[in-house]
Amino acid sequence: MSSATRIIEPGQLEAPAGQIPFLCLAEQDVFKQRAERLLQLSEQHSFGAYLNFLATLAQAQHEVLTHFATVPLPSAEQQALCREHGMPMLGAQAWHRDAAWRDGLKAILHHMKAAPLPAPASAAIARLMKLSEAELEEIASKLLAGDLATVGAQDMPFVAAALQVYWTHMARELGEHAIGKLEQGGLCPVCGSHPVAGIVRIGGVQQGLRYLSCSLCATEWHMVRIKCSSCESTRGINYYVLEGSNGAIKAESCDACNSYLKLLYMEKDNQVEAMADDLASLALDVLMDETGKARGGPNLFFHPGSV
Ligand SMILES: [Zn+2]
Ligand SMILES: [Zn+2]
Repeated sequence: MSSATRIIEPGQLEAPAGQIPFLCLAEQDVFKQRAERLLQLSEQHSFGAYLNFLATLAQAQHEVLTHFATVPLPSAEQQALCREHGMPMLGAQAWHRDAAWRDGLKAILHHMKAAPLPAPASAAIARLMKLSEAELEEIASKLLAGDLATVGAQDMPFVAAALQVYWTHMARELGEHAIGKLEQGGLCPVCGSHPVAGIVRIGGVQQGLRYLSCSLCATEWHMVRIKCSSCESTRGINYYVLEGSNGAIKAESCDACNSYLKLLYMEKDNQVEAMADDLASLALDVLMDETGKARGGPNLFFHPGSV
């Protein structure tokens, strides 16, 4: 592992404000793309079987998103209020969940049942199918509150997958024009969740810009580089890479709040996908753990009890 101190100031790499798209909602095929990337990364990977399973799950998410029901959204008044006060419109914990997310979960479980799965995953599907509405809501609430350790490791990916589809659907229905900026630049402007990772983009006005990718609704939003996404400090920022890597993934750490977030560089690998590449680079998390730094955002497919 090596580290380098910053040599450029925040904002120095940016195109002038106003020309930069602040927000990019997830594309309709976000889960399909994720499935493809997971499959690609699963080849010759030490936990390829899990990445392969998640590829099947992401494909199921894609099918469910494609046929998602019409659901209630914030009213025009609520939207205006959120924009005015810099609050997320679809707050992960505050938003009253429609039953449609549980229908989405059932549909995901149904898709997954048809796939060849390891025994614990099949058992989790059978168990989740029997849970009451209240029990499923309880799991969802814990997951959205960030209490990942209290959610069963086998249940987590399925419930997380269903919540992601529901939130991604709502975000897409609201549309980019509806979303305002939040007070805290490191939280998703749509749902207030922490990012799973950041992506340094290539091409056009977005060349070299950093976008954070939401761990829940897959929205990407712009944040200047060399700035901690957790506490917004611009001092004590360091970068770590795995020995022998191609530099496509770095951990950006912050001494002020002792956290880190991975950055994925499209310039080094233009296929990077936040959720998938974050999972496939678990070795970097293990190294960061040794430095005493904690993740600045969750990956909803990475159970805290699994390492
Ligand atoms: Zn979000
Ligand atoms: Zn910080």
